[in-house]
Amino acid sequence: MGSVEKKIDFYQYLWQMNAIGDREYSIIRERQLSDDEISTRIKTAANLITIYRQQWDALEQADLNRHFSDDLLDKLSTTTCQRFKIIPYDLDKSGKLKVACVNPLLNAMRKVVSREIPAFKIEYCLADKETVLRLLKVYYRDISHIIDKAQEASGESAFLSGDSAGLDTLIDQIVIDGYERHATDIHLVFQGDILFYRLRLNNCFFPMIKLPNPISMVLKNRLLIRSGCAFNRLNNVRDAAVEIPYKDTCIPVRVSYVPTPDGYSIVLRIIRPSYLSFNKDDFLPEQWSDFIFQMKYNRGLVLITGPVGSGKTTIYYSSMQYLASERMKIISLEDPVESNVHGAFQVDLGKTRLTFSDTMKVILRQDPDIVMIGEVRTEEEIKSVSAAKLSGNMVFTTLHALTPWDTLIKLRRLGYPEEQLLNQSVTILTVRLVPIICSDCAEVYQPTAEEMRQLEVLNLQSDVKSFKKAVGCEVCQYSGYVAMKPFYDVLTVDASHMTKLMDNWNSLRQDSHLHGPINHMRSFLMGLMKKGDIDLKTLFGFLIE
Ligand SMILES: [Zn+2]
Repeated sequence: MGSVEKKIDFYQYLWQMNAIGDREYSIIRERQLSDDEISTRIKTAANLITIYRQQWDALEQADLNRHFSDDLLDKLSTTTCQRFKIIPYDLDKSGKLKVACVNPLLNAMRKVVSREIPAFKIEYCLADKETVLRLLKVYYRDISHIIDKAQEASGESAFLSGDSAGLDTLIDQIVIDGYERHATDIHLVFQGDILFYRLRLNNCFFPMIKLPNPISMVLKNRLLIRSGCAFNRLNNVRDAAVEIPYKDTCIPVRVSYVPTPDGYSIVLRIIRPSYLSFNKDDFLPEQWSDFIFQMKYNRGLVLITGPVGSGKTTIYYSSMQYLASERMKIISLEDPVESNVHGAFQVDLGKTRLTFSDTMKVILRQDPDIVMIGEVRTEEEIKSVSAAKLSGNMVFTTLHALTPWDTLIKLRRLGYPEEQLLNQSVTILTVRLVPIICSDCAEVYQPTAEEMRQLEVLNLQSDVKSFKKAVGCEVCQYSGYVAMKPFYDVLTVDASHMTKLMDNWNSLRQDSHLHGPINHMRSFLMGLMKKGDIDLKTLFGFLIE
């Protein structure tokens, strides 16, 4: 007898063991037949039903409501798990591996499993068929169709030895896979001798998906060459961009490559064309008019801030589009250019062969109304922002920061001149992308004690009555999430308020004006939480610093 309460009753067991078909199963269940009645109904010896009942009684039932680590999932191959509908789900201290099975008594399955992992003691546990099938789609995704397509494009041996047609197909299919599953980025990693990719949706990683390792080097080279990297620079750290054809359009992708001691890491950031124009309805009405006003008339500094994958790039390009439509002369310095905007002059830093500050000097001689800078990360770049500002331009850029006070601290720490900061206004646009859970499969559940404690810390425990969590189904491509809802907030700190802040620099956090965006985000998230649109993981991810 297992310690888990028997979730799978005897009727379901008979059905999963193929002792009864779908139709019999529903009749037997509906009429709640006794063992004798079942044997009469399906014309089987009564003692056979008794044997089934003894088996059912003796089998431990798997508790699949848990976290599946890569290490555990790695124990069995995708082929075996898919073929027999099984999942390793627990490894106890004595080294016993528990495997969840739709049919735990299948001999062929037991043989294959013990051959694959001879070192383990294995306990075969009974698990709900529907749950196992769903988890298989999430954790043991069969990507053979992707590999097949790539091999078709070049022939199997040519593909493995680096034929570009096959590699291009593979790259396209991997990006499309991530795009359709709402991933914010795709991490392609070669480590030791394992090549794999993994989708990421905000802070949450999907399980790794292995690729044939003979292509590790040719795949990397092909990807970098396609993104415009010169052949002799293939081994350098590199940021580049590539466009992947998809249906009638293209998916712009930013490629970031870093060599590691035993391989490499490539991050593909997916820029969603559908997000490339902002939607007025995603702003609070007064915030929208404020934002438009600042964009049109402000000659100060406008900073788009947020963490990685929060949609900073999206709002950058949509603002550019908006400003271009207002017939202003915009020059945008980007590294690299990820999306072309009609009516704007976009300069690709990588192609100028000049330093950042030299490029900026050239740009300023072109008499722009607005200078846009893709992202500022270094002291040299922030000095150029300051120079552009001093030449009387509105400067628009993105900065990686979480809160308004972090933004100001970062600005100053990077070397933005204090006297300049004191004599201008700074507009901070906070952006976030909030993952919305799939209503087709989301489950109501009871939060853990730790989650309840965290809610209390945030002082939100009394606000939400029912909690939902993402699960995964056909509709959401087994990601558990269906869309990303943007959150925007506009905060302007004018020159006089900035003077006040400078006097209390060490207690910046206490300034209530700077707390505006955080308070707005909090009520925005609570609204979604009450509607059952987001899970606790998302709430905590955004609110806990
Ligand atoms: Zn779903």
